[in-house]
Amino acid sequence: MSDSFIGERDELIASVQSNAEHLPPMMRCYLGYKADYPEHLLLLQVGDFYELFFEDATVAAAALDVRLTSRNKNSENSIPMCGVPVHAIDAYIPKLLAKGFSCVIVSQTSEAKAKGPVLREITRIITPGVRYEGEGLDEKKFNYLAACALNARESGALVFVDVSTGSLRVGEVENLENLLEMLERVSPSELILPSTLFGVSTKENQNWLRKVRKKANELNCHIVMRPFVVVSERDISRRLEMLLRENSSVGVGAASDNSRGLSQEACSALAAAINYVEEVSFGPLARIFQFTVEKSNGVVFIDAATRRNLELFETRIDGTRKNSLIDLMDLTQTAMGSRLLREWLSAPSCELDVIESRQAAVEELVRLDSSRARLRELLAAVRDIDRLMSRVTTMRATPRDLRVLADSLSELPEIRRFLGECSSEMLKRLLADFDTLEDICRKLNSALVDEPSNKINEGGIIREGFSSNVDDLRELSGEAKQWLLKLEAEEKIRTGISGLKVRYNNVFGYFFEVTKSHLSKVPSHYQRKQTLANAERFSTDELKSLEVSVLSAKARQIELEKELFIELRSYVAGEAHRIQATSRGLSLLDVFAALAELAHRRNYCRPKIVQGTKLHIKAGRHPVIEMVIGAHNFVPNDCTLDSEGEGKYFALLTGPNMGGKSTYLRQVGLIQLLAQIGSFVPAESAELSLVDRIFTRIGAADDIARGDSTFMVEMREATTIVKRATERSLVLIDEIGRGTATADGLAIATSIAEWLHDCIGAKTIFATHFHQLTSLAEAKKGVSCITVGIVEDGDEIIFTHRIENGTADRSYGLEVARLAGLPQPLLQRARMAMSSFENCETLTSDLFNQPLSSQIAVFADNSSVPPAREDVPSSNAEHELVVERILSFDINSMTPLQALRELEALQNELSQ
Ligand code: ADP
Ligand code: MG
Repeated sequence: MSDSFIGERDELIASVQSNAEHLPPMMRCYLGYKADYPEHLLLLQVGDFYELFFEDATVAAAALDVRLTSRNKNSENSIPMCGVPVHAIDAYIPKLLAKGFSCVIVSQTSEAKAKGPVLREITRIITPGVRYEGEGLDEKKFNYLAACALNARESGALVFVDVSTGSLRVGEVENLENLLEMLERVSPSELILPSTLFGVSTKENQNWLRKVRKKANELNCHIVMRPFVVVSERDISRRLEMLLRENSSVGVGAASDNSRGLSQEACSALAAAINYVEEVSFGPLARIFQFTVEKSNGVVFIDAATRRNLELFETRIDGTRKNSLIDLMDLTQTAMGSRLLREWLSAPSCELDVIESRQAAVEELVRLDSSRARLRELLAAVRDIDRLMSRVTTMRATPRDLRVLADSLSELPEIRRFLGECSSEMLKRLLADFDTLEDICRKLNSALVDEPSNKINEGGIIREGFSSNVDDLRELSGEAKQWLLKLEAEEKIRTGISGLKVRYNNVFGYFFEVTKSHLSKVPSHYQRKQTLANAERFSTDELKSLEVSVLSAKARQIELEKELFIELRSYVAGEAHRIQATSRGLSLLDVFAALAELAHRRNYCRPKIVQGTKLHIKAGRHPVIEMVIGAHNFVPNDCTLDSEGEGKYFALLTGPNMGGKSTYLRQVGLIQLLAQIGSFVPAESAELSLVDRIFTRIGAADDIARGDSTFMVEMREATTIVKRATERSLVLIDEIGRGTATADGLAIATSIAEWLHDCIGAKTIFATHFHQLTSLAEAKKGVSCITVGIVEDGDEIIFTHRIENGTADRSYGLEVARLAGLPQPLLQRARMAMSSFENCETLTSDLFNQPLSSQIAVFADNSSVPPAREDVPSSNAEHELVVERILSFDINSMTPLQALRELEALQNELSQ
């Protein structure tokens, strides 16, 4: 929600409030709540609808696609409003959350028919950052609420918590850049910012807040403001212990150890986050199972542009998951594993021992081929334990949830046996901590029926033999049912109505049903209850008394089952810590098994991680393109970069369009990234040193969807790279300087290349269509030239997609144009223009002394030639206007989207 939006609404509310005494009680009630919860959409129950008013109504109507109406239509104080039916609220809320809104739900608590004022209270607060399973969460992603604070020196902390899985993390940051990077990586759905920090009001224009807000807006993250107060380390560790202790005594020590040495900002942000969860949670508070403090330099930083360019989670073309890296790689079987893999991909490790121990685990699982298949089968039967447990501990879990949990747990003993056969250090460590939870599983199985209901107040939960009380009541109601059947048989005989039936519904209870044709035989003591189209329903005193005993036994049984279920759920909640620890182990095992499966299926190798700065890939492939076009169609390529000694660390890549430059660049980036999550890589072999950051800047031409002027985007991304890359980074630059005129484009590309080589010394691949740049190789010792192989066969040109040493002597643009089907005469003309250009750096008037039309005459291969411009029938006035409009466009100030829209408008006009 933007600030201006809050501002406008505040004004409107203020103007209405000044006339508050004229407002009906309902509107006054609304404004009262609104004042307390300005950041949320407020949904107020009015009879059968939840209504929204003012700006809330305007934005919600658009977001939900419901009709916007208004209250007091004809008065000058008409108020926009819209509403959704009370019964359908759960269908609408995920839509609002998905669009980044949060909601406060105020429900009526007094009967609508009752006399006196309608009573209302807040029944739910739903915000994007505090959500549980069942509220439209994506099971493959974490959902974070974050809070951050920086001090005057701009160091501080980011705290992020996912209540749906119970993980809470703190990252200390050294500066604003760090904070923004971490924010980008975590990409929370909601962020708490200080309205006051340690008692001092934080003005909006404070540098870091402004930048954090901007970043949050880019990330589509909902912002709320809360006071951040001074909290001592002792207080915060006590609160953390409370959150953890609820589950068990294990881990409490860990909490206090971990929270020791936290900065003041971290403590304060932690408190703000916990307070906020408390504030919006009605009912038991989410529990925290895992509290970790992150090292800021432990992970590879990948900025948003790079994530997009490498298509880690979605493709650039349509923004969907299909054909993204994660789509290819995610062979995990559990939701926990899937989320963990995504975390690893967005934050690969910089720590050698972490990477190597993961590699060893993957390697072992690659080798254990047939048992890996069995392991993956077992894992496939394990459900999202983490999110189930957060439902259990917040008392939301249904009987079916516990059944699902029990079924998942029953896989554990065999999974443990599998681990028992493993010898890599990582898997042995997993085994040591692996609790098979058989006691819990046994208890759940003995208590729950095989297919319990999803509601807790309908019975059908508790298994026979678990509670003698339930069994007795069941017998009683079972017997009573026998009596009913007996009564039915007797009545048939007594009345002579063979079709008479005892039936039941929720409204009328038990009744005799008699079809119309037999009505004459109904005895007089039968009391009519209901008339249907072709039958009537009756009761008798005897039936009524039986009904009472059936229903009361049933009601007591249901009540008792519910009590036992709640007891069972509390028991499971009490064991949450053990269950979560096992779940963590499962998620790791799942990711290792998935990486092993991937390596096996796609023939990946284990990269050797080396000290120093070397990057050497033998026969590397692009993991996704290889899959799309088929492995046998993909041409593997080597890559060597090294900044040590006399090494070449800056590869200047030239070559024709469509030759495979962008593919090569990305494949090197992806291989490095995969290596640093501990995965095998698509190559014959690889020796890689660790990098601290991976940057990419890829093809301006493709950025149209972003609505920014492409050159601006290009320069912004370049700025990030030159400012943030270090000598330990991997930089991949594709076609820089394309979005502007040739001369300044070349100038900028040259100086960026020089800067990267001289001042930063990062390992770089620099693909460019400016072959003038290849002269850098002569001047700079670290530069090597590589190019895309071409085979010229007479007139034909074939791209081999093989990367070789050397430079492209020209760009082959004309060949590509020819392949694309431009008419011969046009190409011929272009060749003339080019030679003229090459000779004198500018087009000579000589060229234009030979009109194009005359050349068409010479080169025309008849009918396919379009008429030259002067042969076009004289254009009508409309066309003149269009031409004028085109000439008036200020291309430099237009975004690609604006340009497209203009084009569309023109097209529409012309086709009318
Ligand atoms: P450039 O950046 O040089 O214009 P791209 O990297 O976009 O070229 O590649 C163009 C097309 O060529 C890709 O869509 C891909 O299908 C194919 N291609 C690229 N590299 C290879 C390769 N190594 N083996 C097989 N096909 C490739
Ligand atoms: Mg390209």
